[in-house]
Amino acid sequence: MDEYTPKERLARVLAHKEVDRMPAICVTQTGTVEQMDACGAEWPEAHENAEKMATLAEAAHTIVGFEAVRVPFDITAEAEFFGCGIKPSTKVQQPSVISHVINSVDDLEDHKDYDITTKRIGQVLKAINILADKYGDELPIIGSMIGPFSLAQHLTGDSWFMSIMTDEEFGKAVMDFTTEFGIKYALAQVENGADTFSIIDPTASYSLIGAEFYKKFVIPYHTKLVDALHEKGVPSVLHICGDTTPGLSIMETCGVDAISIDQNVDVATAVANVDKALIVGNLDPVSVLWNSGEENVAAIKEESQKALEAGVGLLAPGCGIVSQTPTVNLQAMIECAKNWTY
Ligand SMILES: [Zn+2]
Repeated sequence: MDEYTPKERLARVLAHKEVDRMPAICVTQTGTVEQMDACGAEWPEAHENAEKMATLAEAAHTIVGFEAVRVPFDITAEAEFFGCGIKPSTKVQQPSVISHVINSVDDLEDHKDYDITTKRIGQVLKAINILADKYGDELPIIGSMIGPFSLAQHLTGDSWFMSIMTDEEFGKAVMDFTTEFGIKYALAQVENGADTFSIIDPTASYSLIGAEFYKKFVIPYHTKLVDALHEKGVPSVLHICGDTTPGLSIMETCGVDAISIDQNVDVATAVANVDKALIVGNLDPVSVLWNSGEENVAAIKEESQKALEAGVGLLAPGCGIVSQTPTVNLQAMIECAKNWTY
Protein backbone atom coordinates (compact mmCIF):
# COMPACT_ATOMS: atom_id res chain seq x y z
CA MET A 1 0.00 0.00 0.00
CA ASP A 2 1.23 3.48 -0.85
CA GLU A 3 2.30 5.67 2.00
CA TYR A 4 0.53 8.74 0.68
CA THR A 5 -2.57 9.45 -1.35
CA PRO A 6 -1.74 11.19 -4.65
CA LYS A 7 -3.21 14.35 -3.12
CA GLU A 8 -0.93 14.22 -0.08
CA ARG A 9 2.07 13.30 -2.19
CA LEU A 10 1.76 16.27 -4.55
CA ALA A 11 1.07 18.68 -1.70
CA ARG A 12 4.18 17.45 0.11
CA VAL A 13 6.36 17.75 -3.00
CA LEU A 14 5.20 21.31 -3.61
CA ALA A 15 5.95 22.09 0.06
CA HIS A 16 9.47 20.57 -0.27
CA LYS A 17 8.64 17.74 2.14
CA GLU A 18 9.91 14.19 1.86
CA VAL A 19 7.88 11.68 -0.14
CA ASP A 20 8.16 8.02 -1.18
CA ARG A 21 8.33 8.78 -4.93
CA MET A 22 7.53 11.33 -7.62
CA PRO A 23 3.84 12.07 -8.32
CA ALA A 24 2.74 11.58 -11.95
CA ILE A 25 0.80 14.70 -12.84
CA CYS A 26 0.26 17.16 -15.68
CA VAL A 27 -0.17 20.88 -14.99
CA THR A 28 -1.05 21.70 -18.61
CA GLN A 29 -4.07 20.56 -20.62
CA THR A 30 -4.77 16.80 -20.56
CA GLY A 31 -7.52 16.14 -23.17
CA THR A 32 -6.78 13.72 -26.00
CA VAL A 33 -8.86 12.11 -28.77
CA GLU A 34 -8.23 8.61 -27.40
CA GLN A 35 -9.64 9.68 -24.03
CA MET A 36 -12.60 11.38 -25.76
CA ASP A 37 -13.40 8.18 -27.66
CA ALA A 38 -13.08 6.09 -24.52
CA CYS A 39 -15.13 8.26 -22.15
CA GLY A 40 -17.70 9.74 -24.54
CA ALA A 41 -16.99 13.36 -23.63
CA GLU A 42 -15.33 15.23 -26.45
CA TRP A 43 -14.36 18.69 -27.62
CA PRO A 44 -16.01 21.08 -28.27
CA GLU A 45 -18.75 20.02 -25.79
CA ALA A 46 -16.17 19.22 -23.10
CA HIS A 47 -15.04 22.86 -23.25
CA GLU A 48 -18.59 24.11 -22.68
CA ASN A 49 -20.51 21.69 -20.49
CA ALA A 50 -19.50 21.03 -16.88
CA GLU A 51 -20.48 17.33 -16.83
CA LYS A 52 -18.62 16.61 -20.08
CA MET A 53 -15.64 18.66 -18.93
CA ALA A 54 -15.46 16.68 -15.67
CA THR A 55 -15.82 13.37 -17.55
CA LEU A 56 -12.93 14.16 -19.90
CA ALA A 57 -10.78 15.47 -17.02
CA GLU A 58 -11.47 12.26 -15.12
CA ALA A 59 -10.30 10.21 -18.12
CA ALA A 60 -6.78 11.58 -17.66
CA HIS A 61 -6.78 9.65 -14.38
CA THR A 62 -8.95 6.59 -15.13
CA ILE A 63 -7.75 5.92 -18.68
CA VAL A 64 -4.26 7.42 -18.88
CA GLY A 65 -3.18 7.12 -15.25
CA PHE A 66 -2.30 10.65 -14.20
CA GLU A 67 -2.51 11.03 -10.43
CA ALA A 68 -4.57 14.21 -10.54
CA VAL A 69 -7.51 15.70 -12.40
CA ARG A 70 -7.37 19.09 -14.05
CA VAL A 71 -9.67 21.48 -15.89
CA PRO A 72 -10.19 23.22 -18.27
CA PHE A 73 -8.55 22.18 -21.56
CA ASP A 74 -8.12 25.60 -23.16
CA ILE A 75 -7.27 29.20 -22.28
CA THR A 76 -9.95 31.15 -24.14
CA ALA A 77 -12.94 30.98 -21.77
CA GLU A 78 -11.71 34.08 -19.91
CA ALA A 79 -11.45 36.24 -23.06
CA GLU A 80 -14.80 34.85 -24.24
CA PHE A 81 -16.28 35.86 -20.88
CA PHE A 82 -15.45 39.48 -21.65
CA GLY A 83 -16.84 39.31 -25.18
CA CYS A 84 -13.82 38.51 -27.38
CA GLY A 85 -14.63 36.59 -30.56
CA ILE A 86 -13.68 32.91 -30.45
CA LYS A 87 -12.91 30.54 -33.29
CA PRO A 88 -14.66 27.39 -32.05
CA SER A 89 -12.83 24.24 -31.13
CA THR A 90 -13.04 21.02 -33.13
CA LYS A 91 -12.56 17.57 -31.66
CA VAL A 92 -8.81 17.84 -32.25
CA GLN A 93 -8.11 21.55 -32.13
CA GLN A 94 -8.35 24.10 -29.34
CA PRO A 95 -10.54 27.20 -29.65
CA SER A 96 -8.69 30.46 -30.27
CA VAL A 97 -9.31 34.17 -29.68
CA ILE A 98 -9.96 36.09 -32.91
CA SER A 99 -11.25 39.51 -31.85
CA HIS A 100 -10.60 41.86 -28.97
CA VAL A 101 -12.66 44.21 -26.79
CA ILE A 102 -10.35 46.58 -24.92
CA ASN A 103 -8.77 49.61 -26.60
CA SER A 104 -8.79 52.17 -23.82
CA VAL A 105 -9.13 52.71 -20.07
CA ASP A 106 -12.78 53.66 -20.74
CA ASP A 107 -13.39 50.25 -22.35
CA LEU A 108 -12.28 48.63 -19.09
CA GLU A 109 -15.02 50.49 -17.20
CA ASP A 110 -17.65 48.89 -19.47
CA HIS A 111 -16.42 45.42 -18.46
CA LYS A 112 -16.15 45.80 -14.70
CA ASP A 113 -19.60 44.52 -13.82
CA TYR A 114 -19.56 40.73 -14.13
CA ASP A 115 -20.74 37.54 -12.48
CA ILE A 116 -17.97 34.97 -12.21
CA THR A 117 -20.43 32.06 -12.08
CA THR A 118 -21.81 32.66 -15.57
CA LYS A 119 -20.85 31.64 -19.13
CA ARG A 120 -18.14 29.06 -19.80
CA ILE A 121 -16.04 29.95 -16.76
CA GLY A 122 -19.10 29.11 -14.66
CA GLN A 123 -19.04 25.65 -16.25
CA VAL A 124 -15.37 25.29 -15.26
CA LEU A 125 -16.36 26.04 -11.66
CA LYS A 126 -19.11 23.42 -11.82
CA ALA A 127 -16.72 20.86 -13.34
CA ILE A 128 -14.28 21.43 -10.47
CA ASN A 129 -17.13 20.92 -8.03
CA ILE A 130 -18.08 17.59 -9.66
CA LEU A 131 -14.46 16.41 -9.65
CA ALA A 132 -13.84 17.51 -6.07
CA ASP A 133 -16.96 15.67 -4.88
CA LYS A 134 -15.80 12.48 -6.55
CA TYR A 135 -12.02 12.61 -6.12
CA GLY A 136 -11.27 15.38 -3.65
CA ASP A 137 -10.22 13.05 -0.82
CA GLU A 138 -7.74 11.17 -2.95
CA LEU A 139 -6.49 13.15 -5.96
CA PRO A 140 -5.15 16.66 -6.40
CA ILE A 141 -7.86 18.76 -8.02
CA ILE A 142 -5.91 21.13 -10.26
CA GLY A 143 -7.69 24.35 -11.13
CA SER A 144 -6.33 26.42 -13.96
CA MET A 145 -6.76 29.62 -15.91
CA ILE A 146 -4.95 31.93 -18.26
CA GLY A 147 -2.55 34.29 -16.50
CA PRO A 148 -3.23 38.03 -16.30
CA PHE A 149 -0.64 39.09 -18.89
CA SER A 150 -1.83 36.69 -21.60
CA LEU A 151 -5.45 37.60 -20.80
CA ALA A 152 -4.50 41.26 -21.28
CA GLN A 153 -3.16 40.34 -24.71
CA HIS A 154 -6.35 38.42 -25.54
CA LEU A 155 -8.47 41.41 -24.51
CA THR A 156 -6.43 44.05 -26.35
CA GLY A 157 -4.90 42.19 -29.31
CA ASP A 158 -1.36 42.17 -30.62
CA SER A 159 -1.04 45.90 -29.97
CA TRP A 160 -0.63 44.85 -26.33
CA PHE A 161 3.13 44.48 -26.66
CA MET A 162 3.40 47.99 -28.10
CA SER A 163 1.01 49.33 -25.44
CA ILE A 164 3.14 48.24 -22.51
CA MET A 165 6.14 49.96 -24.04
CA THR A 166 4.42 53.22 -25.02
CA ASP A 167 1.49 53.65 -22.64
CA GLU A 168 2.36 52.56 -19.13
CA GLU A 169 -0.83 53.94 -17.60
CA PHE A 170 -3.05 51.91 -19.95
CA GLY A 171 -0.84 48.83 -19.59
CA LYS A 172 -1.06 48.91 -15.82
CA ALA A 173 -4.81 49.60 -15.87
CA VAL A 174 -5.34 46.51 -18.03
CA MET A 175 -3.10 44.42 -15.78
CA ASP A 176 -4.98 45.62 -12.68
CA PHE A 177 -8.23 44.62 -14.38
CA THR A 178 -7.10 41.15 -15.51
CA THR A 179 -5.43 40.45 -12.16
CA GLU A 180 -8.50 41.44 -10.16
CA PHE A 181 -10.57 39.15 -12.37
CA GLY A 182 -7.96 36.37 -12.12
CA ILE A 183 -7.96 36.47 -8.32
CA LYS A 184 -11.77 36.27 -8.19
CA TYR A 185 -11.84 33.41 -10.69
CA ALA A 186 -8.99 31.48 -9.04
CA LEU A 187 -10.55 31.82 -5.59
CA ALA A 188 -13.92 30.70 -6.97
CA GLN A 189 -12.15 27.58 -8.30
CA VAL A 190 -10.67 27.03 -4.83
CA GLU A 191 -14.10 27.45 -3.21
CA ASN A 192 -15.39 24.76 -5.56
CA GLY A 193 -12.66 22.34 -4.57
CA ALA A 194 -9.42 23.13 -6.43
CA ASP A 195 -6.48 22.44 -4.10
CA THR A 196 -3.63 23.12 -6.53
CA PHE A 197 -3.51 25.85 -9.12
CA SER A 198 -1.93 26.11 -12.54
CA ILE A 199 -1.44 29.59 -14.01
CA ILE A 200 -0.95 29.40 -17.76
CA ASP A 201 0.59 32.67 -18.93
CA PRO A 202 2.14 31.71 -22.28
CA THR A 203 2.94 35.15 -23.63
CA ALA A 204 4.21 36.61 -20.36
CA SER A 205 7.52 35.40 -21.66
CA TYR A 206 10.75 36.93 -20.52
CA SER A 207 12.11 36.05 -23.96
CA LEU A 208 9.44 38.28 -25.55
CA ILE A 209 9.48 41.30 -23.25
CA GLY A 210 12.79 41.24 -21.35
CA ALA A 211 13.63 41.90 -17.71
CA GLU A 212 12.52 45.54 -17.41
CA PHE A 213 9.01 44.95 -18.71
CA TYR A 214 8.70 41.57 -17.01
CA LYS A 215 9.44 43.19 -13.64
CA LYS A 216 7.00 46.02 -14.32
CA PHE A 217 4.09 44.28 -16.03
CA VAL A 218 4.21 40.70 -14.80
CA ILE A 219 5.84 40.26 -11.38
CA PRO A 220 3.59 42.56 -9.28
CA TYR A 221 0.48 40.94 -10.76
CA HIS A 222 1.64 37.34 -10.46
CA THR A 223 2.62 38.15 -6.86
CA LYS A 224 -0.91 39.33 -6.02
CA LEU A 225 -2.43 36.22 -7.56
CA VAL A 226 -0.02 33.79 -5.89
CA ASP A 227 -0.45 35.56 -2.53
CA ALA A 228 -4.25 35.29 -2.77
CA LEU A 229 -3.94 31.55 -3.44
CA HIS A 230 -1.41 31.05 -0.64
CA GLU A 231 -3.81 32.76 1.77
CA LYS A 232 -6.19 29.88 1.03
CA GLY A 233 -3.39 27.35 1.43
CA VAL A 234 -3.28 26.57 -2.30
CA PRO A 235 0.09 26.08 -4.00
CA SER A 236 0.52 27.30 -7.55
CA VAL A 237 2.48 26.33 -10.62
CA LEU A 238 3.31 28.90 -13.29
CA HIS A 239 3.60 27.79 -16.91
CA ILE A 240 5.18 30.15 -19.42
CA CYS A 241 6.10 29.06 -22.94
CA GLY A 242 9.39 29.56 -24.75
CA ASP A 243 12.99 29.78 -23.61
CA THR A 244 12.54 31.26 -20.14
CA THR A 245 16.06 30.28 -19.00
CA PRO A 246 17.45 33.77 -18.27
CA GLY A 247 14.19 34.88 -16.63
CA LEU A 248 13.63 32.02 -14.19
CA SER A 249 15.24 33.71 -11.20
CA ILE A 250 13.03 36.77 -11.75
CA MET A 251 9.93 34.68 -12.46
CA GLU A 252 10.11 32.91 -9.11
CA THR A 253 10.19 36.17 -7.14
CA CYS A 254 6.39 36.24 -7.43
CA GLY A 255 6.42 33.46 -4.84
CA VAL A 256 5.09 30.71 -7.06
CA ASP A 257 5.74 27.19 -5.76
CA ALA A 258 6.73 25.64 -9.07
CA ILE A 259 7.59 26.74 -12.59
CA SER A 260 6.60 24.65 -15.58
CA ILE A 261 9.22 25.00 -18.31
CA ASP A 262 8.90 24.02 -21.94
CA GLN A 263 11.20 21.93 -24.07
CA ASN A 264 13.31 24.96 -25.06
CA VAL A 265 14.74 25.13 -21.54
CA ASP A 266 17.54 22.91 -20.30
CA VAL A 267 16.37 21.24 -17.08
CA ALA A 268 19.72 21.28 -15.27
CA THR A 269 20.21 24.97 -16.06
CA ALA A 270 16.67 25.74 -14.94
CA VAL A 271 17.18 23.93 -11.64
CA ALA A 272 20.43 25.85 -11.10
CA ASN A 273 18.75 29.18 -11.95
CA VAL A 274 16.00 29.01 -9.33
CA ASP A 275 16.34 29.39 -5.61
CA LYS A 276 13.27 27.58 -4.31
CA ALA A 277 10.69 26.96 -7.05
CA LEU A 278 10.26 23.38 -8.15
CA ILE A 279 10.97 22.86 -11.86
CA VAL A 280 8.21 21.03 -13.76
CA GLY A 281 8.52 19.65 -17.28
CA ASN A 282 9.59 19.35 -19.94
CA LEU A 283 9.02 16.60 -22.48
CA ASP A 284 8.36 18.08 -25.93
CA PRO A 285 4.60 17.61 -26.49
CA VAL A 286 5.08 17.37 -30.27
CA SER A 287 8.39 15.72 -31.16
CA VAL A 288 8.57 13.45 -28.09
CA LEU A 289 5.06 12.78 -26.76
CA TRP A 290 2.92 12.98 -29.89
CA ASN A 291 4.95 10.94 -32.36
CA SER A 292 3.60 7.43 -32.15
CA GLY A 293 5.23 4.04 -32.60
CA GLU A 294 6.95 1.48 -30.42
CA GLU A 295 10.36 3.07 -30.79
CA ASN A 296 8.85 6.31 -29.57
CA VAL A 297 7.94 4.77 -26.24
CA ALA A 298 11.63 3.96 -25.82
CA ALA A 299 12.53 7.53 -26.77
CA ILE A 300 10.04 8.90 -24.25
CA LYS A 301 11.56 6.80 -21.50
CA GLU A 302 15.03 7.97 -22.48
CA GLU A 303 14.00 11.65 -22.52
CA SER A 304 12.17 11.18 -19.21
CA GLN A 305 15.25 9.67 -17.62
CA LYS A 306 17.36 12.59 -18.83
CA ALA A 307 14.97 15.12 -17.30
CA LEU A 308 14.80 13.18 -14.04
CA GLU A 309 18.55 12.89 -13.75
CA ALA A 310 18.91 16.60 -14.54
CA GLY A 311 16.84 17.30 -11.43
CA VAL A 312 13.31 18.01 -12.64
CA GLY A 313 10.98 18.26 -9.64
CA LEU A 314 7.93 16.91 -11.45
CA LEU A 315 8.23 15.08 -14.76
CA ALA A 316 5.50 16.38 -17.09
CA PRO A 317 4.79 17.57 -20.63
CA GLY A 318 6.60 20.82 -21.52
CA CYS A 319 3.32 22.40 -22.66
CA GLY A 320 -0.29 21.36 -23.33
CA ILE A 321 -0.64 17.75 -24.52
CA VAL A 322 -1.41 17.54 -28.25
CA SER A 323 -4.90 16.05 -28.65
CA GLN A 324 -3.75 13.24 -30.96
CA THR A 325 -1.12 12.02 -28.48
CA PRO A 326 -1.38 8.24 -27.95
CA THR A 327 -2.23 7.11 -24.43
CA VAL A 328 0.68 4.64 -24.40
CA ASN A 329 3.12 7.52 -24.89
CA LEU A 330 1.75 9.39 -21.89
CA GLN A 331 1.83 6.18 -19.87
CA ALA A 332 5.53 5.75 -20.64
CA MET A 333 6.20 9.17 -19.09
CA ILE A 334 3.91 8.41 -16.13
CA GLU A 335 5.72 5.13 -15.44
CA CYS A 336 9.08 6.94 -15.35
CA ALA A 337 7.71 9.54 -12.91
CA LYS A 338 6.26 6.90 -10.61
CA ASN A 339 9.52 4.95 -10.59
CA TRP A 340 11.55 7.98 -9.53
CA THR A 341 12.55 8.55 -5.94
CA TYR A 342 14.03 11.94 -5.08
ZN1 LIG B 1 3.58 26.33 -23.14
